[in-house]
Amino acid sequence: MRRRDFIAAVGGAAVCPLLARAQQNPQMNDPRHPDGKPWQWPEPTWRRITDRARAGRSLRPATWPGGARCAIALSFDADHDTIPLRDADESPMRISQGQYGNRQGVPRIRALLARHGVPASFFYPAVSALLYPDEVRTVAHEGHEIGIHSWIHEANTTLPAEAERDLTFRAAEVLEKLAGRRPAGIRTASWDFSVSTLGIIRELGLLYDSSLMADDDAYEIEADGQPTGVVELPPEWIRDDSPYWNFVRFSTLRPYTPPSAVLEIFLAELDAAWEEGGLFLLTMHPHISGHRSRIGVLDRVIQHAKNKSACWFATLEQVARWCKEQAG
Ligand SMILES: [Zn+2]
Repeated sequence: MRRRDFIAAVGGAAVCPLLARAQQNPQMNDPRHPDGKPWQWPEPTWRRITDRARAGRSLRPATWPGGARCAIALSFDADHDTIPLRDADESPMRISQGQYGNRQGVPRIRALLARHGVPASFFYPAVSALLYPDEVRTVAHEGHEIGIHSWIHEANTTLPAEAERDLTFRAAEVLEKLAGRRPAGIRTASWDFSVSTLGIIRELGLLYDSSLMADDDAYEIEADGQPTGVVELPPEWIRDDSPYWNFVRFSTLRPYTPPSAVLEIFLAELDAAWEEGGLFLLTMHPHISGHRSRIGVLDRVIQHAKNKSACWFATLEQVARWCKEQAG
């Protein structure tokens, strides 16, 4: 189904503002493309598109630190209030759903990580960090990583290149001030990595990105066939809480998956990563997974990894650094 038809079928902008904006996205759907319709494109046109931020050499290491068999990278996208703010949605109810992430989600997650003694990576939109500066300071102080996650959870593919660059640079400054340390990595909001994003990452000198999905394990991103030195740590919606649980009142899309089913999927991913000697990278959102009925999923994932033994719990920065060093 074409994107435009899909949007119409599910009800238009009221259903998903991001999709509705993507409909206008010149990168995705521009009828004025200089090379005409996609079926008319000459080979250099589609090769240029596929080569823009391509998976290059695998960076899966032969071994993990301490002889571990598997790396466990837990990540939390602390979007909080920025999801409705991004959509210019002033509803106090939807803002309150974001604040839940600060009041209940992050404290529960921090307590759980402390109880298990494992580190994690927290990705903050700058506006979320500015709303809750003490949270960012505390999370950083407890030894967790703070990474870039946009300015206000904007969709990069809908922005002019210069706006994306300006917002990303300013977001890095905000997080550096609050965390006391320059971020080493980025996760684009909604994993919406635009045609400009790789250039911005290189200009910022970041170690890694965690938005692209060409592999299960770490790889080096290539730009136009050339290695960039930027490590990609691939996420996937399979290992993300939001597709299973993110409820939007005025939407026909209302997933309400039992926590036991989500746990089953996450553990299947973890077990396979362990078998292959690879990376298990999990993405969760404090305002989604921090609820009483769901926080146990994270607890059981961590406990499962501990029971298997030979699992290295690490921040994404530590994983990226290790993979890059091992690859030489
Ligand atoms: Zn996010």
